[in-house]
Amino acid sequence: MINHWINGQLWEQKPVRTGPIYNPATGAVADEVVLGTADDVDSAVEAALAAYDEWRETPVTRRQNVMFAFRELVVDNRHEIAKLITAEHGKTHSDALGEVQRGLEVVEFACNITHLLKGEFSEQVSTGVDTFTMRQPLGVVAGITPFNFPAMVPMWMFPLAIACGNTFVLKPSEKDPSPSMLCAELLKEAGLPPGVLNVVHGDKVGVDRILEHPDIAAVSFVGSTPIARYIYENGTRAGKRVQALGGAKNHMVVLPDADMELSADAAVSAGYGSAGERCMAISVVVAVGDAADRLIPQVKARIAKLRTGPGDDPNSEMGPLVTPEHRDKVVGYIDSGVDQGADLVVDGRGFAPDGFEDGFYVAPTLFDRVEPGMKIYDDEIFGPVLSVVRVEHYQDAIDLINASPFANGTALFTNDGGAARKFQSEIQVGMVGVNVPIPVPLAFYSFGGWKSSIFGSNAIYGPEGIRFYTRQKVVISRWPDPMHRGVDLGFPQHGR
Ligand code: NAD
Repeated sequence: MINHWINGQLWEQKPVRTGPIYNPATGAVADEVVLGTADDVDSAVEAALAAYDEWRETPVTRRQNVMFAFRELVVDNRHEIAKLITAEHGKTHSDALGEVQRGLEVVEFACNITHLLKGEFSEQVSTGVDTFTMRQPLGVVAGITPFNFPAMVPMWMFPLAIACGNTFVLKPSEKDPSPSMLCAELLKEAGLPPGVLNVVHGDKVGVDRILEHPDIAAVSFVGSTPIARYIYENGTRAGKRVQALGGAKNHMVVLPDADMELSADAAVSAGYGSAGERCMAISVVVAVGDAADRLIPQVKARIAKLRTGPGDDPNSEMGPLVTPEHRDKVVGYIDSGVDQGADLVVDGRGFAPDGFEDGFYVAPTLFDRVEPGMKIYDDEIFGPVLSVVRVEHYQDAIDLINASPFANGTALFTNDGGAARKFQSEIQVGMVGVNVPIPVPLAFYSFGGWKSSIFGSNAIYGPEGIRFYTRQKVVISRWPDPMHRGVDLGFPQHGR
């Protein structure tokens, strides 16, 4: 039974509700997780509030040292974290290690906190007057995270929030909560005082309490678009600062001049990696002109060689989906694609590796001649289903992408620099790849889409993360000058 982590220790109280954690590779229920009540959230916030004053007063160099120590522990324990990811999420071990690495990069960015919190200073803005800014923490902040990156997405949030001097309440996905628990233990080992990071498990009940809790100053959310919108609307209504990253439908444009081998490698890697359960997965290939006829045979050939199997089998390149409900949803989408007239080129339904018949598998699936209006085009499927849309002209591809309500990532494959420049300038998407299928910025930039892929003005991690987890204070100071006395009822004027 996986219980909460509150005030630096496991929560001992008997749970009121629990939920199953599956081993997606076998289909067995492997464990249970406590589904927190509003009271549980209150206990976590109480611990975070109690820890706040001392933590924000802790010198920034000491907070930095905790991050350095945590960084070392994550490196030492990366295989352990990756094993927990694979056991509960299903992705392959190598993919899980990649996830840990991308989370680690944010921890490394947070190790720069001494530099990142530096303010600005202007001497003598008026006679004897100086002006300076500082960035101060917000207080108790919360993070609500999705199932698909159970280590990386929490690490997009808590390292920066904590390094900035906030205390944190994390509500990880109830489908794969264990990596967060190991991170909490490692942070304790790294010297983080009790109450600075708390983990409360659960579902809507806990989330709703987070959204209304008067002592939570800000909420970071990553998940699907409908829930992101809900979090943003309700969190801001309660007066909180909110950044809510939503779902995606990422298009990859292939121009006729592109290197088709490279494009096929990219489409297969970005379409089927992590079984398509990535917010930056490519789910639509927009093939311009005659590109589809040359690309599809290459994609088919690569799919035929892909090995789908349990994530802990080193031979597997793609693992199962996370739960039986999610597997059924993805299969339902494939059924609808067939019903709505798309060409099913490769059918991944009904697949299971030998000995794993009860696992939640769907093999790589490829549709051709997909069109807007079909559910497989309009909705985020979040599974190993790649759709090819054929368009005649390059401008049609740009218009198609710009008409989508989702705008997380997109990519262009071409050898034409002018075409690439047009794409990066005109495309209405937050993260753009040129001959790069998954354009996820490293941790010293920030991550975020546009339109319905994000609610709130701050992208996540990087410089935007620092801005989100702190507020600026400006100080204008003048030290008593014996020569400068007297009342002045006018608005203070600078430059005198
Ligand atoms: P989800 O929206 O179902 O759940 C995310 C979190 O919200 C979980 O912690 C969950 O417990 C909670 N939640 C679920 N339903 C809720 C409700 N009704 N009320 C309150 N809270 C609720 O998302 P998921 O299925 O866990 O993750 C996959 C989704 O996340 C995909 O849409 C994917 O694109 C998106 N995602 C986006 C990004 C990004 O950076 N934009 C990154 C990763 C995942």
